[in-house]
Amino acid sequence: MSRNDKPIRLTVLGSSGGCPGPGNPASGYLIQHEATTIWCDAGSGTFMALMDHVDPDDVDAIVVSHVHTDHCADLVAFYGYMAYGPSGTIPVPVYLPPNTVEPIASFVRAEGEHVFFMTMDFNEVGAGDEVTIGSIAVRFAETNHPVPTVASRYEAGGRSVAYSGDTGPGGGYPGLLQGCTAALCEATIQGPRHDQTYPYHLTAGEAGTVAADAGVERLILTHLSPTLDPRTSIEEATATFGSVPDLAVPGATYEI
Ligand SMILES: [Zn+2]
Repeated sequence: MSRNDKPIRLTVLGSSGGCPGPGNPASGYLIQHEATTIWCDAGSGTFMALMDHVDPDDVDAIVVSHVHTDHCADLVAFYGYMAYGPSGTIPVPVYLPPNTVEPIASFVRAEGEHVFFMTMDFNEVGAGDEVTIGSIAVRFAETNHPVPTVASRYEAGGRSVAYSGDTGPGGGYPGLLQGCTAALCEATIQGPRHDQTYPYHLTAGEAGTVAADAGVERLILTHLSPTLDPRTSIEEATATFGSVPDLAVPGATYEI
């Protein structure tokens, strides 16, 4: 980063894995650089949190990793605001994997010329796709999850952060993360992997390994199940990452 480059600002709206937890919405982040604002994942409760940081009208684009409600439910809240709120420049571009729009639209029985489709411009993305949103270049990869899911990498001013979305071991996230400054990586579960371990999420130790293998400067753990003690996740990720990771907590802003 040269002296004139502005950092990427990553703000955690919510980080609770699978569902909201006490005082913590489900997954959602603001990724900002200069005048550009991207809302990355719209899990339950994140639209309320977003309004603590930005005017919804200033959201330049939305990225949704997949159709599970802890990552997409608040698109419906955003629709309600943009369709019936005080103002709004619409449609707002939304980037999301295939077969994701219809389940979300069905919440409000949106079909055909429904106003839902006037508030957001849906664009399906997959592995290798790239878009430029303001000053931020975004690239996608597909992850190891039971429904179509994209990880997303954000690059600006010579800095970059890649978000895992939800993923088990393998998939496209490790490759997407190569050369990044920081990893925002899910660590839904704890302990060593064994035959009964859920295959479509990462353990904290695995998140540390993925980040170490990619050579990132910084690891931010997210999507911890709300039933877990995060101190254990930090310990397990520290053992494999080689230094102490950050924990994504709601309201925190990181400069990447
Ligand atoms: Zn999830």
